[in-house]
Amino acid sequence: MMPHANRSSGRLSTSLASLLTDLSAVVGATNVLTKSSQQQSYTQGAIASITDAVAAVVIPDSLVALWRVINLCAAVDVIIIAQAANTGLTGGSTPYGEYDRAVVVISMQRLGGVHLLNDAAELVALPAASLQQLECKLAPLGREPHSVLGSSCVGASVIGGICNSSGGMLVQRGPAYTEMSLFAKRNAMGEFELINHLGIDLGAAPEEMLGNLQAGTFNKNPDSANSKSCTNHHYQHKVRDCEADTPARFNNDPNGLYEASGSAGKVIVFAVRVATFAKPTQEQTFYISTNDADTLTTLRQQWLKSELNLPILAEYMHQDYNDITMRYGRDTCLSMRKLPASKIGALYRLQAKIGYYLDKWRLPQTLPDRMLQIASTFMPPSLPNSLAEQACSYRYHLIIKVADGNNTDDDNRNGNNSGSHGHIAAAQAFLQSHMQQHQGVVHLCTAAESQALLVFRSAATAAMFRYHNLNHTRFGELLSTDIALPRNAVDWNEVLPINLQKQVSKTFYLGHFFCHVMHQDYLLHPEVDAKKFKNELLAFYDRRRIEYPAEHNVVMSIPQNLHYILFIKN
Ligand SMILES: Cc1cc2nc3c(=O)[nH]c(=O)nc-3n(C[C@H](O)[C@H](O)[C@H](O)COP(=O)(O)OP(=O)(O)OC[C@H]3O[C@@H](n4cnc5c(N)ncnc54)[C@H](O)[C@@H]3O)c2cc1C
Repeated sequence: MMPHANRSSGRLSTSLASLLTDLSAVVGATNVLTKSSQQQSYTQGAIASITDAVAAVVIPDSLVALWRVINLCAAVDVIIIAQAANTGLTGGSTPYGEYDRAVVVISMQRLGGVHLLNDAAELVALPAASLQQLECKLAPLGREPHSVLGSSCVGASVIGGICNSSGGMLVQRGPAYTEMSLFAKRNAMGEFELINHLGIDLGAAPEEMLGNLQAGTFNKNPDSANSKSCTNHHYQHKVRDCEADTPARFNNDPNGLYEASGSAGKVIVFAVRVATFAKPTQEQTFYISTNDADTLTTLRQQWLKSELNLPILAEYMHQDYNDITMRYGRDTCLSMRKLPASKIGALYRLQAKIGYYLDKWRLPQTLPDRMLQIASTFMPPSLPNSLAEQACSYRYHLIIKVADGNNTDDDNRNGNNSGSHGHIAAAQAFLQSHMQQHQGVVHLCTAAESQALLVFRSAATAAMFRYHNLNHTRFGELLSTDIALPRNAVDWNEVLPINLQKQVSKTFYLGHFFCHVMHQDYLLHPEVDAKKFKNELLAFYDRRRIEYPAEHNVVMSIPQNLHYILFIKN
């Protein structure tokens, strides 16, 4: 059993060999994966793993075992990569590139568990607890987790979301955030210290605390009136301020970084304490389409300045994105509509395994996409006919979802769970009046249409990747950016300067419109120097006071050789 990390040297270092033995003693030999065929679904994420340094993937089954594993790793100074559901698009939960030391990936997948607190107004989530599990657990209690959209459908964990500041679609709640967590961080001596900021007494010694935490032997009605927060209370006010010349949120924003929140692998998180939210009694999705970008600019400004309650989400898609999601997203839409999140996670792992064998047998990496694309022609369309015509007939589209009966952030903080009503009717009146005065249409979705539309939006990026993958001979590289516009920006409908336009074959735009966070994809002409283009593009962004990355870190993919470049502004 020869671990990757040592193939290059051809010799297993003594400390690494004894680390593997010690890890096996803690978690069992079958949970220390050292062969690349076993590791594939843990080392492969959205960003292809390009490393030879993974000594082992370790899968502990208790918090105490996790604590022992990280201490063993720290003692020999290996690099630790924490991984939850591995759906993050940033590459943070998988190895990438060159490392100066061996890498141990720790999968949290067997560390599930949720403890409800204070009559389910809050909860403690352990590392593998997923948003979808929370949704099922909270629904009978009339509550829901921070997010029931987007990455929830693919099995994302609560802690992965906190670490990644996830939750891009959520206009009212903003990115996942808490100041209450239990985490381990390395001190100046390189040793791990366990820090309990859950606001719950768990005991004194680390293993005692972790044992109590996992077993739920602690006070389930802890004081919630301390100065720490377990949700983002300020986001609504920030989003509303659409005259501000700074973005509502972006990765480097120090206001969103607090211990576990935004830590993205820099500490090991054992548990987070987060708020839950009253489940809406009624929801309504509006589908708004126009050929006039200013119609959407004024819609956003007027809504944000009005007395209207903030929508749950307000997602933008350009017609070109609609078009490729119709053509290349059928199977993704179908799987998201029909499969539970846990099964979709399993599909991702299967895909990673297939990729491994294609590579091993020197078969084209496009093979699965080609087969799925052919199969998808026999599947139902990505959107029902009632929406498809509108999606194809206009250039600019907004999906706005509004709720009655869900409490606001302030209600939540003040313990007022009575909810609020009349928001749907007010939003409908506003939208219909706005679209009558301007050019365009507003469609009131049925519940089924609403689900189809949100799945369609979530499947768009995957469809775009497939489009590029299957057409890579026609295009050069694909550059994907994730940017936060100043809240007062009106140039969201980007017009590239001529020097950039000349290098681009196609552009695709979508985004979190009210938050002014956009995901932009540039398909370059063949032969264009992608690095040079990227620098010119960033200079263009800088002139517009755009911050990047807004919520994900990936900017560039070159699927032909599966090489990706991370995009992090220092
Ligand atoms: C189809 C699709 C749709 C998506 N939609 C959205 C969306 O709408 N909004 C959005 O924001 N994101 C979205 N994402 C991105 C992603 O799903 C989220 O970022 C998600 O929150 C990541 O959760 P995870 O459990 O997969 O975490 P992982 O990807 O496993 O990890 C994320 C980060 O957290 C760290 N981490 C995880 N667990 C621990 C731990 N216990 N201790 C320390 N560090 C840890 C990892 O090292 C990594 O840096 C989407 C992804 C896909 C594939």
